[in-house]
Amino acid sequence: MIYCKKCIMPNTRPEQVFDEEGVCDACRSTARKSKHIDWEQREEGFREILDRYRCEDGSWYDCVIPVSGGKNSCFQAYTMKYRFGMNPLCVNFVPCALTDVGRKNLEFLRDIGFDIVHVATDRKTYREMVHVGFFKLGDCCWPEHIGIFTAPFRVAYQYRIPLIIWGENPQFEYGGPAASRGNPVLNQKWLEEFQMLGYRISDLVKNDGFEWKDLKTMVYPTDEQLEEVGVTGLFLGHYIKWDQKEQIDKMVELGFNVNPDGPIEGAYNNYENLDCKWIGGLHDYMKYIKYGYGRATDQMCIEIRAGRMSREDAVRTVGDYEGKIPWKYIPDFLEYLNISEEEFLANLDRFTNRKLFLTDKDGRLVKDENGNLIRRYPVV
Ligand SMILES: [Zn+2]
Repeated sequence: MIYCKKCIMPNTRPEQVFDEEGVCDACRSTARKSKHIDWEQREEGFREILDRYRCEDGSWYDCVIPVSGGKNSCFQAYTMKYRFGMNPLCVNFVPCALTDVGRKNLEFLRDIGFDIVHVATDRKTYREMVHVGFFKLGDCCWPEHIGIFTAPFRVAYQYRIPLIIWGENPQFEYGGPAASRGNPVLNQKWLEEFQMLGYRISDLVKNDGFEWKDLKTMVYPTDEQLEEVGVTGLFLGHYIKWDQKEQIDKMVELGFNVNPDGPIEGAYNNYENLDCKWIGGLHDYMKYIKYGYGRATDQMCIEIRAGRMSREDAVRTVGDYEGKIPWKYIPDFLEYLNISEEEFLANLDRFTNRKLFLTDKDGRLVKDENGNLIRRYPVV
């Protein structure tokens, strides 16, 4: 396991590309963005695209904006309406377990002038999907990823709104295969490749006893349906300079709520992944046990690249934030899936990458006095 020489991203991150100097693609991408991109020209091009979709007389929506109630989505909606003069319809996929602050931020969106369509999967089916995600795929929020990326396409098709505006391109912002960087389009292939861990809805029907009739909210529209309306998805982050700090400051000024308890478990900042009880803590922790890094690493890397944090400070403090079992909402999670703490912890162990965490001579995971894993390769 090696770490980027400029930020603290490890090479265990899926799709992470390092160059011969040991610098990750996301750091290179940031440097490229500040030097070689003419943002004025990009914005102008964006306005030209928008003009083709604009509903001048206001009789209908002219773009769909997926919203979680998080900072990014609030910023996207605000920017599209008030900076680019569009008339958006917000689409919210209701998460596994909405937090109070997440609910407040969805209210905030309505307060600042947005209509929202909520898409909520039936609880019985959804819970079974969370079960599959947690026990089979090692990601408790697997159905949430699918819903977040599928619901906007379904609504776009059903409401006949051809344009979907996404926020940042995660591959662009966090680094990924160079091929997907210049291509700001999100489609089913992207969804399956980057969000679904290679497990498809059809696999649920084939392997896990699900029925198609219960999965309607999770089924991505067909190519023919999308073509019929001409649905196109664009990443706003491809057209305007994406600065997390600037965005959060602006949103807070307007009334967006950051987490009242400070950062969620495993995180460094207090404004990301606030909307779902599990997508923050437990989802991030499951990533940690598979890949050896958590949400604080992601967030600190962004701070380092933006010049707001030194690499030394990140190396020194990242362990204070991530790598601990996120106990806060675990009792809720156990109750939700109706499983015991022993089953829960055993499943975490099952998904823990032994190459990244210490084991004893019998191959059993070594844990500290709080039951947390010990990294074989601390950040250096
Ligand atoms: Zn880096």
